[in-house]
Amino acid sequence: MSDATTAGTTGAAPLARGASQARGRCHCGAVRFVARFPSRFVAHCHCASCRRAHGAAFVTWAGFPSPQVEVTAGAGHLATHESSPATFRRFCRLCGTKLFFESAKWPGETHVALAAFDDPVDRAPQGHAFAAEHVAWLPFELPAP
Ligand SMILES: [Zn+2]
Ligand SMILES: [Zn+2]
Repeated sequence: MSDATTAGTTGAAPLARGASQARGRCHCGAVRFVARFPSRFVAHCHCASCRRAHGAAFVTWAGFPSPQVEVTAGAGHLATHESSPATFRRFCRLCGTKLFFESAKWPGETHVALAAFDDPVDRAPQGHAFAAEHVAWLPFELPAP
């Protein structure tokens, strides 16, 4: 079921070249997905909700129109946490990996955790959301406005 110990340890390569989609998966490999290009954005989010949900200093998201994101295996293992009203974070209930974010604030979009991809996506991160909220222990220069 899982090739987690043998594949993907290097993370996603910088940029897709000529590819039309990128594959990804949770840590245990039970949940697998593909996201078809073009993406709408890739950005780092420093908001307190993302930080706590992922246990991380920030979360890098790749945003896609929802119909372009397809769960290809393990859909039954996905669980949903409503982290704020009408905001849903979907994760693998077997290993806990947070994969997807959907919110009424961005209707029709699915934001995919960039770290979950095995393949490169179609753009580099473009910016920082909620940069002013970044944790004090992250070496970080506020981007120019
Ligand atoms: Zn998993
Ligand atoms: Zn966030």
